[in-house]
Amino acid sequence: MKWTNESILQDAKDKDVRYIRLMFSDINGTIKNVEIPIAQLPKALDGKMMFDGSSIEGFVRIEESDMYLKPDLDTWLIFNWEEGNHIGRIARLICDVYTPEGEAFAGDPRSNLKRVLKKMGDLGFTSFNLGPEPEFFLFKLDEKGNPTKELNDHGHYFDLAPNDLAENCRRDIVLELEALGFDIEASHHEVAPGQHEIDWQYSDAVTACDNIQTFKLIVKSVARRHNLHATFMPKPIYGINGSGMHCNLSLFTEDGNAFYNPEGADELSETAMYFIGGIMKYARSFTAICNPTVNSYKRLVPGYEAPVYIAWSSKNRSPLIRIPAARGNSTRIEVRSVDPSTNPYLAMSVLLTAGLKGIEDKLTPPPAVDRNIYSMTREERLAEGVNDLPGSLREALKELKNEPLMTEALGEHIEQNFVAEKTHEYFSYQKQITEWEIEKYFTQY
Ligand code: GLN
Ligand code: MG
Ligand code: MG
Ligand code: MG
Repeated sequence: MKWTNESILQDAKDKDVRYIRLMFSDINGTIKNVEIPIAQLPKALDGKMMFDGSSIEGFVRIEESDMYLKPDLDTWLIFNWEEGNHIGRIARLICDVYTPEGEAFAGDPRSNLKRVLKKMGDLGFTSFNLGPEPEFFLFKLDEKGNPTKELNDHGHYFDLAPNDLAENCRRDIVLELEALGFDIEASHHEVAPGQHEIDWQYSDAVTACDNIQTFKLIVKSVARRHNLHATFMPKPIYGINGSGMHCNLSLFTEDGNAFYNPEGADELSETAMYFIGGIMKYARSFTAICNPTVNSYKRLVPGYEAPVYIAWSSKNRSPLIRIPAARGNSTRIEVRSVDPSTNPYLAMSVLLTAGLKGIEDKLTPPPAVDRNIYSMTREERLAEGVNDLPGSLREALKELKNEPLMTEALGEHIEQNFVAEKTHEYFSYQKQITEWEIEKYFTQY
């Protein structure tokens, strides 16, 4: 159903909505809220709600601080949380950020993705689809409600109770997501103890990114009700798997899935191959966006099912890109480097831009590598054209800055603010003295 101003106002009235959260995301992907009482909803629906953007890190300069929130009516959603405590219910609308001049604000990640999607339309594609596979850990809370580093269970991949003590929590998360309209496809224990994954039906990239933002909010709040802390930090524990967010990507035209060609090699189209070529060529430059924390690079190491090398395969799970077996409309490529600390709108902006560039420039990828890349020597890898992903946030930021295509993908405003903030983050980390160093050097020297 398509929402209108009128039907939203009626729905709010019928369901006793008292407050509305106008949501948008900052450059880090953190959800920001302006909460308004129901009386302000008509004004908000007209896109007339203003907020001061200068208080949001990396958002705008003081002299241009007034911003408008333009709600996307299709994102109207009433949360189930506040039922029963007589203050009425809380709803949300996801918004695009506009300048007082009525233009999409260049620092708004969601508007930026829409800008990139327009370019996709110019190339004849009608939809860029994303099916994400976010992974997360559940840790226990202490008596005061603060997160501990104690895992909630000791289960393993696809384990069932009694090992999977978090099953009730995960089931509650799924129930709540379904009540909010998520079409859940799978929910399972992941490889590491305390680690979980929930997957839902793919959709167009903007909707899928909105869903990722909603998903994180729901996972965290339901976990809290179970006295658990959910974290999407990429590598919370040394020595076991980290959390990724594999991204299943496809491009559609009016005729259907542009990655599928029953006559093509492996039933993949030329378009799919060029898209892979683009992703591989620009992988080193988009990694800072898809893996934006110091901690992200602790995950991208050999031995934990996370990619380290820039290669593709249909059989092997170690490379950057895997082609899942499904064909027809489900034909897709799975980009495995992305982790859940990424801002999904920015991740989709860079991945789509890289893939489209591959199509425009007809970039044929090197042959698929179907053996275990981890067991190859560096010489063997280089002989097969397999490069490494950046090994640190610092290296990744350098690659990002040096690639003009990334400025196209992000716009100057976002790229500059991102690089400035992340450079600061890296150097603040670099000055730290870690436990590992103390253990290694304190007595040795
Ligand atoms: N947790 C792994 C990663 O870091 C993925 C494991 C899997 O889904 N097979 O990407
Ligand atoms: Mg999965
Ligand atoms: Mg997984
Ligand atoms: Mg996967």
